[in-house]
Amino acid sequence: MKGQRLANGQHLVKPDADVLVVGGGLAAQRCCETLRRHGYDGRIVVLCEESHLPYDRPPLSKTALTDPEAPRRPSFRAAEWYADHDVELLLDSPAQRLDAAARTVTLQQGSRRAAKPASLRYRRLVIATGSRPRTPEGLPASQAIHQLRTYEDALRLRAALRATRRRLVIVGAGLVGLEVASSALALGCEVSVIEAAATPLRRALPPQLGRWLAGLHRARGIDVRLAVTVTRVSRHAQELRLHLNDGSTIAADVLLLAIGSVPATEWLAGSGLRAGPIPTGATGATALPDIYAAGDAACPPNPYLHVPTPTPHWDAAAREGATVARAILGLPALPQTPPMFWSDQHERRIQLVGDAPHDSQIDFDGDPCTGEPFAAWITHERQPAGAMLVDRPDALPRARRWVINAAEQRAAPHQPSEVSENDMSASDR
Ligand SMILES: Cc1cc2nc3c(=O)[nH]c(=O)nc-3n(C[C@H](O)[C@H](O)[C@H](O)COP(=O)(O)OP(=O)(O)OC[C@H]3O[C@@H](n4cnc5c(N)ncnc54)[C@H](O)[C@@H]3O)c2cc1C
Repeated sequence: MKGQRLANGQHLVKPDADVLVVGGGLAAQRCCETLRRHGYDGRIVVLCEESHLPYDRPPLSKTALTDPEAPRRPSFRAAEWYADHDVELLLDSPAQRLDAAARTVTLQQGSRRAAKPASLRYRRLVIATGSRPRTPEGLPASQAIHQLRTYEDALRLRAALRATRRRLVIVGAGLVGLEVASSALALGCEVSVIEAAATPLRRALPPQLGRWLAGLHRARGIDVRLAVTVTRVSRHAQELRLHLNDGSTIAADVLLLAIGSVPATEWLAGSGLRAGPIPTGATGATALPDIYAAGDAACPPNPYLHVPTPTPHWDAAAREGATVARAILGLPALPQTPPMFWSDQHERRIQLVGDAPHDSQIDFDGDPCTGEPFAAWITHERQPAGAMLVDRPDALPRARRWVINAAEQRAAPHQPSEVSENDMSASDR
């Protein structure tokens, strides 16, 4: 580590990275791209736990399973991009510990690649380590048990589904579980989904919309079992048996555990940052100086949510990565937008924008029972809160504007807003 002696006799240690990004996923990628696009000329180093270039995850539950051709890793950029933009990627290099006072990140040693530094000193640190699947305890050891987060997970699941084309049981009716259910059905598997909550996507959707989603899967032939939990999993030769709390048993050749994710922030223990999703301000700054967080690992404020909640989705990770870069550059923050996610299930494009509290009122534009496109306009306490669009991507800008205008009106009740609620009939939205 190089050093420089200051006039006051102190030693200024030159950092190894002006910006050290930990985690090589979407938020990290967007942060690096934004920095370079705006002319940032400091040294950028990215620590990646995985052994390949940063890549995109949404295809892993969709085309990576269903495409007849063997899937290629959905890398954001070719290797040349990192060389051309002077972004140093340290692959296979998980961060192990943060010492915020010394401004150093210690690297985990003993992984496959040799010649890694023991630690790196940073000027600014960006935490973008994403999340990991939640893992239940007490499972038998079995090759038939899967989780899905990485490209390797997707290849393993793809091989298992194609080899057996038989009974897949998915525990968890969240985004990943339901997308895999849809993909596996397309491959000819017999699919069951077990969910503890009374409706699918329970945290994101009000019951009425969750029931519609359960109906979509059941109509295609998926055995969706709601309000039921797995008490035990036993192994009988190649077969797994799931014992449920309603007394029933279900057999699986392949079992996917999709019971949600937890922020990958365990390496920050003892650093002074709170465990779990890292609270940040609107710029992505954490409570510690020169440390930012973005993506699934972060929990920034969002004025469009009724209860502050992490939004572990693509749109938020991309935006937060760019937001942190802008803060480092000293640029004004981008205006906040309502949270949004999309999902592809049974050839239907589902988009949720804004918030959808459980006691919302829903107005349908189009009939959800017909299989035709529709929009569900979600109001909470008589205020526009969000919208669920099914095969209606054309309505997304309008839905965003509807939610934004309502929030602006709430924030400044005496200011006339661009479009008032009364200006828009349901068919207009
Ligand atoms: C299968 C799947 C399908 C999805 N589909 C959709 C979708 O249809 N729509 C949608 O809106 N969202 C979807 N998402 C969510 C979306 O992909 C994530 O929100 C997004 O990838 C989060 O970006 P991130 O950069 O925060 O984390 P990630 O993309 O997970 O990247 C984090 C990276 O950090 C690395 N890392 C972790 N710990 C360390 C460490 N200690 N040191 C160094 N590196 C570390 C990880 O290995 C990983 O490479 C999907 C997610 C999955 C898993």
